[in-house]
Amino acid sequence: MNDDSIKELLDELTLAEQVSLLAGTDFWHTAAIERVGLPAMRVTDGPTGARGTLFDGGPESVNVPCGTSLAACWDPALVEEVGRLLGREARAKGARVLLAPTVNLHRTPVGGRNFECMSEDPYLTARTAVGYVRGVQAEGVASCIKHFVGNDTEFERNTIDSQIDERTLRELYLVPFEAAVREADVQSVMTSYNRINGPWAADSALVNDVLRGEWGFDGLVMSDWFGLHSTAEGVAAGLDLEMPGPTLHRGQKLLDAVERGDVSAEDVRRAAGNVLALVRRTGAWDDGGPGPETTRDDPADRALVRRAGASGMVLLRNEPSAGTGAAPVLPLRTTGLRRIAVIGPNAANGQTEGGGSAHVPPTHISNPLDAIRARLGGAGSGIEVTHAAGCPTHKRLPVLDRRLCTPFVLDVFRAVDGASTPGATPDESNVVATSRIMWMRDPIDAGAGSASAGFSVRFHTTFTPDATGPWQFGVSSIADATLSIDGTVVVDNADAALGGSFFGVGKSEEVGTAELEAGRAYALEVRLRRPASDHALSGLIVGAFPPVLVDPVDEAVEVAGQADLVILVVGTNADWESEGYDRDDIALPGRQDELVARVAAACPNTVVVVNAGSPVAMPWLTAVDAVLYTWFPGQELGDALVDVLLGDVEPQGRLPVSFPHRMEDTPAFEHHPGRNGVAQYVERRLIGYRWYDTVGREPMFPFGFGLGYATTTVTGARLETPHAVAVDVANTGERDGVEVVQVYAHRLDRAGLPPDEAQQRLVGFAKVTVAAGSSTAVSIELDPRAYQGWDVGRHEFVDDEGRYELRVGTSSRHIAAHLPVTR
Ligand code: BGC
Repeated sequence: MNDDSIKELLDELTLAEQVSLLAGTDFWHTAAIERVGLPAMRVTDGPTGARGTLFDGGPESVNVPCGTSLAACWDPALVEEVGRLLGREARAKGARVLLAPTVNLHRTPVGGRNFECMSEDPYLTARTAVGYVRGVQAEGVASCIKHFVGNDTEFERNTIDSQIDERTLRELYLVPFEAAVREADVQSVMTSYNRINGPWAADSALVNDVLRGEWGFDGLVMSDWFGLHSTAEGVAAGLDLEMPGPTLHRGQKLLDAVERGDVSAEDVRRAAGNVLALVRRTGAWDDGGPGPETTRDDPADRALVRRAGASGMVLLRNEPSAGTGAAPVLPLRTTGLRRIAVIGPNAANGQTEGGGSAHVPPTHISNPLDAIRARLGGAGSGIEVTHAAGCPTHKRLPVLDRRLCTPFVLDVFRAVDGASTPGATPDESNVVATSRIMWMRDPIDAGAGSASAGFSVRFHTTFTPDATGPWQFGVSSIADATLSIDGTVVVDNADAALGGSFFGVGKSEEVGTAELEAGRAYALEVRLRRPASDHALSGLIVGAFPPVLVDPVDEAVEVAGQADLVILVVGTNADWESEGYDRDDIALPGRQDELVARVAAACPNTVVVVNAGSPVAMPWLTAVDAVLYTWFPGQELGDALVDVLLGDVEPQGRLPVSFPHRMEDTPAFEHHPGRNGVAQYVERRLIGYRWYDTVGREPMFPFGFGLGYATTTVTGARLETPHAVAVDVANTGERDGVEVVQVYAHRLDRAGLPPDEAQQRLVGFAKVTVAAGSSTAVSIELDPRAYQGWDVGRHEFVDDEGRYELRVGTSSRHIAAHLPVTR
């Protein structure tokens, strides 16, 4: 179907039919119009896998590395391969639009979705995003890049006004979107929840003026879920598709608005045309409707996820361990080892992904402990692998352990107080698989649209504890709930604060304690009362945690003391790093700092593995021999980790974000999270390393940093053209090596420059593999805007003439050569 045929089809559609195309019919589908043979099209989250239509309990999906992990590869070609895998995954879920990638920038290290986003640097984010989008779209799936724009933290994300000056917006926050449009022909864009300099992002003039007008975007713009607040304004502003459906702001309201002349029929037609064009472009039209949702589990995909996950891991420290001579502790040498202790909360419970809408149920999970056991402690190895979890790190209590419970029964009642009426007959009775339940629709009347008439719920099971003592129980929910044990209320969350669950719209967890006896059966019951609401989204999470009888850190220290080597896997998890809220600080959760310090003191050979999606503080850094940062590297975490620990894969990840010592050192510290509904981007263009360099503060690890096992040096830097730098990367050692050569532009004549003019900006990079004992010449193409800046008077990028120096090196702080350039 060509453009003319879309025009003809639009001519054939009534205004009401065109309007019907401008909102989803449910959470994941566009409208079908059977009369003209137009099928519905399915969209699916998200950046680290294609989940399909169910948040919980749907078919499994391949879980790929998170955004920071992909950016840490500094390898757009590899990211493109991952994108292709995601495209195939989306197709397996019957979807033709993947709601990804997430390209907001790391304005502060505590942004709840930083793991989903890629970097603090717009250029690195743009290069990574272009690879990603190209890959996804090569498989006949539209990439929907998000969130346009200014959703850089989760604080009050549904209402906050991100106030970003024009130059900062153009040189930082819009850059990845622009690259994805201009270079990867991204087919869809999702607007963000926030306001941007006043208007809602969904109504912003940026859509028509910048995205479509200046950049030539010709695809579909959709709202973030419930992020549209207007009828006429959004359509006029170029927001094609309201998501999810059924519509809250369009439908009859839009027909009336057209009738009144608040918005033109031409605008409606244009938006409907964009929906039709995407259905056609992706091939959804030929599908005749979304297919079944299936799981693919191809060994080649697992291998790719493992390779990509390993490739993003960053070696931050590698020192000789006590008593082993001068060689650094990694790669691990196993000769002579008799006992390896694998310690830490993320050792047996490796975190492959963060939380929120990016979450998918992986097809399988390779845990660090299992992978280390299998590969180092196998039969005949002579190595015993021991384990201790060390300390709990949950933010919310773990969901109920099914092994201690009879099947979970969920009775749903229409009357809001129905569940508390003695003898009430449930309207529906269900066994559910987990104690984490979410409703995207009214649970009784699925046809009620986006609203709910209100309902109540009775969740119950027989709980037989396996330990005697004080058990903790927790409830997180949208609306009030109580949890009782044998009829005694243990938790009542009526007064719990809003914001800590369900994408930030649910209540924070409320916890209560009950003294229980091991082996005795208790009736556990939760009642939830959900009043009528315009929003159907609802949910309940019930958690429990056993009594702590032995100090878990003491236990781990004892296990460490009996080992020759400790591999200590610490980190965060999807409770801490999630959509809906930010982290409070960068400390490792729970008692992990104490755990690392005491374990390192108990065993002289300690390798710390940090399994987190964004930076954490490391007050114990100099007390340990090695630190390897894995990010959330996808479902092959354990095997990818062992590949790097053993040196089967050269450590080649480089930091896509600066690692601060303390929150106080970070650029937005004074201004995050915002006040009175406004987030002022006061630091302007000084994001990340630009801030540290300019204000002269030392990061713990600089942007672009990462060690390898091989010995590589960057020499002979030369200017080929003002937009290309060549270097020789020499490998003088006996191992093949990988280096990421980075080029930063620094303006020499600084008099008169604005205070937020960065000392240096990343303008090019290349990843190169160099065989042992050889040297490789590499040419690095620079950003066409290496010597440009946004002119707020002319509203365009202009050449910034003057003297520059190109800094060529292996991190923003490890510069091997300075090349003068005059423009
Ligand atoms: C998120 C989007 C996501 C959408 C659908 C929203 O809460 O912000 O990134 O694609 O939900 O799950």
